[in-house]
Amino acid sequence: MASEFEIIEQYFSFSNSNALGSASASSTVVGVGDDAACLKVGSEHLLVATDTLVSGVHFPADAEPVDIASRALNVNLSDFAAMGAVPQWLTLALTLPDNNEQWLSKFSASLARGCAKYGVSLVGGDTTRGPLTVTFTVMGVPITARTSAVNDDPSFTVPSLNSANCLRRSGAQAGDEVWVSGSLGKGAAALQMITQNHTARASWPITDRQRENLHAAFYAPVPQLRLGSALVGVASAAIDVSDGLLADAEHIASQSKVMLELNGDALPMHPALASLSDTVLAREWMLSGGDDYELFFTVPEKDHNKVVMLAKTVGVTCTLIGKVFDPAEYDAQYGERVILNGDGWTKPNEKGFKHF
Ligand code: ADP
Ligand code: MG
Repeated sequence: MASEFEIIEQYFSFSNSNALGSASASSTVVGVGDDAACLKVGSEHLLVATDTLVSGVHFPADAEPVDIASRALNVNLSDFAAMGAVPQWLTLALTLPDNNEQWLSKFSASLARGCAKYGVSLVGGDTTRGPLTVTFTVMGVPITARTSAVNDDPSFTVPSLNSANCLRRSGAQAGDEVWVSGSLGKGAAALQMITQNHTARASWPITDRQRENLHAAFYAPVPQLRLGSALVGVASAAIDVSDGLLADAEHIASQSKVMLELNGDALPMHPALASLSDTVLAREWMLSGGDDYELFFTVPEKDHNKVVMLAKTVGVTCTLIGKVFDPAEYDAQYGERVILNGDGWTKPNEKGFKHF
């Protein structure tokens, strides 16, 4: 059966080939397959990303409207972080089971707060009746000196990375370092906690503070926009960890046509997982749980110190977790694009969340 990614590749990537040579195709700088599309409009660039959240799939059916709005918005903004781009506009396609005004007023207030916080304007959408589904389309621009999220650092200038000054999944090169921001496993841990799916395997002692942290990590994941912008011109490739670390690493590896070697022992574990006695499960959550919304990126070795410095400026922990290799060196030996090393680390059967 075709996976979500095979469906996209087989049925919805037809404009990527540029076979028709149309004006619209030639102005597509980044098309299907990255965290956002990048489109040339006149002499400027526009970035576009869409995300849908379905009740009962992406959030529990009884989730609070305040939480649904913040999760839907932040998850979408995370794709902009992965492009190192600046979000500016938003459309909302909302499908509602009924016109519950109490629900709507809470959802709207939360969305308005998010828009104000991240500087985006809601400029359109569609409202329909059906099972609760929230679709956001975020539009924005590449980082420039004017919009730089790190332009409080006077030494920061936007380098000419590619024609559009955005991060892509396809630029990793042999010899590069592999980094990840923040910590891993919180998305999966939060999902377990929120769905109360405390099977014997998954229940674990956590403090009230950790409970709050996990709730926030799930319903208001922090889009790493400042870090993403700061990485433009430094990182050779980037993606946000939404499907799961291994699955997202594979997207980078296949689109960059490289091998990635990850060191399991170096992976930054979210503190709430530390008290989990089932270490196999903790590792599984970090490797394939998904929903962490951290940035996974590659950097030329010579720029190691730049990452250390910019992480400090932005105030986000970044951890070196692996290295990029030429596939010619490895293919014959392993036959896979992402290698996991470290003491007792093995890949779980499911590498990440798949809809199909
Ligand atoms: P992300 O997890 O970063 O949001 P997805 O895994 O949802 O990315 O999608 C991967 C790529 O496929 C993205 O470039 C997205 O725009 C594209 N895509 C997904 N579904 C479709 C579709 N139905 N038609 C065209 N492009 C799609
Ligand atoms: Mg993404």
